[in-house]
Amino acid sequence: MRAVDLIQRKRDGEELSEEEIDFFVQGYTRGEIPDYQASAWAMAVFFKGMSPTETRTLTESMIRSGEVLDLSTLRGPKADKHSTGGVGDKTSLILAPLAAACGVFVPMISGRGLGHTGGTVDKLESIPGFRVRLGLSEFRSVLERCGLGLISQTPEIAPADRRLYALRDVTATVESLPLMAASIMSKRMAAGVDALVLDVKCGEGAFLRSEEEARALAQTMISIGGGMGRKVVALLTLMEQPLGRAVGNALEVAESIETLKGRGPRDLESLSVELAAWMCHLARGEPLDGARARVREALKSGAGLDKLRQVIELQGGDPTVCDNPKRLPQARDTVVVRSERDGRLARLSARAVGQAGMLLGAGRETVDATIDPAVGFVFHKKVGDPVARNEPIATVHVGSQGRLEPALALLRGAIEVRAEAPQPRRLVIDILT
Ligand code: URA
Repeated sequence: MRAVDLIQRKRDGEELSEEEIDFFVQGYTRGEIPDYQASAWAMAVFFKGMSPTETRTLTESMIRSGEVLDLSTLRGPKADKHSTGGVGDKTSLILAPLAAACGVFVPMISGRGLGHTGGTVDKLESIPGFRVRLGLSEFRSVLERCGLGLISQTPEIAPADRRLYALRDVTATVESLPLMAASIMSKRMAAGVDALVLDVKCGEGAFLRSEEEARALAQTMISIGGGMGRKVVALLTLMEQPLGRAVGNALEVAESIETLKGRGPRDLESLSVELAAWMCHLARGEPLDGARARVREALKSGAGLDKLRQVIELQGGDPTVCDNPKRLPQARDTVVVRSERDGRLARLSARAVGQAGMLLGAGRETVDATIDPAVGFVFHKKVGDPVARNEPIATVHVGSQGRLEPALALLRGAIEVRAEAPQPRRLVIDILT
């Protein structure tokens, strides 16, 4: 078998067999198939798509590229959540401690920022000392002691995804339904959870903008998970403006801590609570309303924040950031962006904000670029809010390595103030089971 023939067959829209997909995936993981052939193959998949059978086969092959985590020593239900990627999306940092406080084990293996979107691992690394790279036995021990563990992808789990994900990020092949479905499901299924809650985003700030495509992605992932005997649900959510008010790694950690103290933005709190409730509902089999009430109680009592503090300490980080978020990295300078007119905030483009964040140094433009954990934005207005001329709309947190002027230009283009603003749409569009 030759890689070039498989690229050609996919390019011409043919269906690849299980053997062919496995040859490609294992060959690429072992370094026998070079990046340039994998890029061409990913681009062919991007344009020609995959059949449901090919997508399932690709997922299984990516799972087989590494180990499947055995968490059977943890005595209790295990659940996780995965988002398809957004801007200002820090729900993981809130819902994982909340679900753990409600008696669900949360073995969370996350990624770094991808394209214009942020990643949980980059956010966690902004906490001084926090180690996202734990060996599997240390990960198990953290889980046993506090009910949650937050790590980056390990070389053992779905290594094919690790390589392909980084390659797709720099070859414009992220926005492919089968590649996204296989990427997400391979690593989540390999992490050995009983239940998985998917937050599938649509809207201009999401990878798949149309609701129809996002729905199709959700259904594909539900069917892959169901076929593997796991409980999977997908919340279809809107990603048109950043979630919450903060965008940027340390700023998002600070906002998550505030949210766990009950002082977070409404949209962020309600989505985090809803996702955590679904995790509890699926994993523990308790009624959804009861799960929602328990998660709310964990938020109110501070039990969620205690879990976050505990996991930070167990993973080598400074837990006092929970009491004093100023201990997180702070930007060198701030610049305030003000409204040029009276009216209402009619648009705040999540995609443009994400791209502006990348220019500031909050995300990566190349695989090995370093990021500045302190930079980003805090928005003082959400879409629909009234705003007066000269009133601050955003505070930009600036470091020394970013490109401020182009970032500000992008940010200004992301903001639209008009006399009338459309009614904000519901964040959770649908729930697919
Ligand atoms: N998140 C993932 O884990 N994989 C993708 O392909 C896109 C978003």
